[in-house]
Amino acid sequence: MNSNFPGLFAPGRIGRMELKNRIVMPPMGTGYGAEGGYVSQRLIDYHEARARGGVGLIITEVTAPSLQCQASSYLLTLGDDSHIPGFRDLADAVHRHGAKLAVQLQHSSWEIRDGSPIQVGPSPVMVPARVMGISGKPTHELTTGEIARIVEWFASATRRAKEAGCDGVELHGAHQYLVASFLSASTNQRQDEYGGTAEKRARFLVEIIRATREAAGPEFPIWPRLNGQEFGIENGVTIEETEQIVPMLVEAGAQAIHVSGYGAGSSAIRAPISDRPGFLVPLAERVKKTTQVPVIAVGRLDAELGESVLAEGKADFIAIGRRLMADPELPNKAAEGRFSEITPCINCMDCIERPVSEGRGCACAVNAAMGHEREYEITPASQVKKVVVVGGGPAGMEAARVAARRGHRVVLFEEDPTVGGQLTIAALPPYKEDIALLIKYMSDRLAEAGVDVRVSTEATPEAIAEVGPDAVVIATGGLPIVPDIPGIEGANVATAQDVLSGRATAGQNVVIIGGGMVGCETGHFLVEQGKTVTIIEMLKRMAADVSPMVRRRLMDGLREKSVSLHTQVTCEEIHDDAVTVTTAEGEKQTISADSVVIAVGYRPNDELSRALEDKVPEILRIGDSAEPRRIREAIDDGYRTGLSL
Ligand SMILES: Cc1cc2nc3c(=O)[nH]c(=O)nc-3n(C[C@H](O)[C@H](O)[C@H](O)COP(=O)(O)OP(=O)(O)OC[C@H]3O[C@@H](n4cnc5c(N)ncnc54)[C@H](O)[C@@H]3O)c2cc1C
Repeated sequence: MNSNFPGLFAPGRIGRMELKNRIVMPPMGTGYGAEGGYVSQRLIDYHEARARGGVGLIITEVTAPSLQCQASSYLLTLGDDSHIPGFRDLADAVHRHGAKLAVQLQHSSWEIRDGSPIQVGPSPVMVPARVMGISGKPTHELTTGEIARIVEWFASATRRAKEAGCDGVELHGAHQYLVASFLSASTNQRQDEYGGTAEKRARFLVEIIRATREAAGPEFPIWPRLNGQEFGIENGVTIEETEQIVPMLVEAGAQAIHVSGYGAGSSAIRAPISDRPGFLVPLAERVKKTTQVPVIAVGRLDAELGESVLAEGKADFIAIGRRLMADPELPNKAAEGRFSEITPCINCMDCIERPVSEGRGCACAVNAAMGHEREYEITPASQVKKVVVVGGGPAGMEAARVAARRGHRVVLFEEDPTVGGQLTIAALPPYKEDIALLIKYMSDRLAEAGVDVRVSTEATPEAIAEVGPDAVVIATGGLPIVPDIPGIEGANVATAQDVLSGRATAGQNVVIIGGGMVGCETGHFLVEQGKTVTIIEMLKRMAADVSPMVRRRLMDGLREKSVSLHTQVTCEEIHDDAVTVTTAEGEKQTISADSVVIAVGYRPNDELSRALEDKVPEILRIGDSAEPRRIREAIDDGYRTGLSL
């Protein structure tokens, strides 16, 4: 029995599937699939790293049961037998480490008909904030014949999953896809046997469970994932409805229930992408009271919270998602009590939101090796070098860590009294506190790797020459841009960086010039301190550089606290007690202010690298000092630089 987590590391079962512990990696889209929906080596490496890290059960990302309902060509599918070998390789890789693999089958609600994509659903409705209707047209109402054909797709794909050696199948009945849209009265307005009461809306899922069970035999583990509740959706699923249908699903052959949730509008930040640990646990607890089969709880859980959920009997398995992206070794480290070595997930949502907007595979801000497990393997350097890293922000810390782990002798200079760089202030606004854990984690890793960290030490060309390095990594970050506005030199003006770091004090009535991420978050920070805050922005949209869910959370916070927001206005002049602005209509306005905070962006801090040119054998400029970007780019630059030395 594990003394740290007796519940979490106790063996468990789903049907006949024996699991070494209670930690489940839930389905998370990665975009690592190969063209045609095949399993790629990249996907295998990603999953194998998590299996090696000690997770009990891995559930793959959404997998289309038919080529016809594959939402895009790189999304996984088990739509025909040619896909079986790839899943077999994936299952073998996971099994090598004693973990089990289940495939999540999902009909996205898109189908290719006559060569073109159309949306299909229970009823011809458009529901904003759900997949139904994003095409701008009502969905095609499925006929009973078409429903029967989809049920058959699920059955065939389950048979293939079993043939590939997978240990189970999860049927995606949650979030906003086809099965969930049958379960929800908000999207299912049918009058036939598939619509009406909660039981009738569940008929489609019941038929899928029966058909998949028949295809795979009585023993094969099959279970659904459900929205325990839909938040912020008119006529959405209630927990009482879920309690009503669970016995029917179990009776049809479900051997577990995975309880997620779904939300629209501001609720979307809580479900399905919970930013509050444990937000969805009460739903799992309610479901558990209705059934004997195991219940899987999810929603930003970690080992500690998971252990208490198990101890209180609220669920039987604990799904840990984003935290396993951040650190595949989380289960092993937790089991061994190495808590401070677990890479913290900072809840930035980059993994979910940025691949969608950037069209690349999923990436983790704090774990550059995610999805690059093979290329980013840390191996000993062929020639040991003396390396100077300038700057103890995320870029510099990561470069120093990786270089030192490869055997290089590394000195890191940081002019501030502590390492962290801009992370120190990035951690201050509401919801950002997990970034402070990252600073501690990265700082500890420097010590562990044997980096000679010299804080409160400015790296001048002379100080660097004294070390006599073979290579210098410049990670000096960015410098705030100071716009050319009359009055900018006034004593009442400070940069966001200075205000957040405490180097400048803001007055009671603050105007922030610049409504991007830094300006809005600084506004959120100041309004929480009881200041009156106005943010002015030249663009049409506030926080336009912030990804959608994080932006929603930020804008909700600003509006809740009555921050005055002005878009499409230009600041013309700063006075002692006000700023003058011009609106999009050309109207001049005066906004009173006893403090003005500048947040209009950053430029690279490249002075030192220019001073060192031709003076050291090799210079590498990384992170914001190369181009002001984000934590993810800083850490990725650092990791790759550490590998390249
Ligand atoms: C308020 C705020 C919120 C943010 N929030 C987010 C967020 O939510 N998500 C996100 O992805 N990004 C966020 N960012 C951006 C992110 O913090 C930066 O992109 C990241 O810190 C850049 O890392 P870096 O290592 O390149 O530089 P920095 O973090 O700027 O570190 C550079 C370091 O170099 C040191 N230095 C400079 N010159 C010298 C010298 N000559 N000698 C010794 N030391 C020197 C500096 O003191 C500093 O510690 C935020 C930034 C701010 C200001």
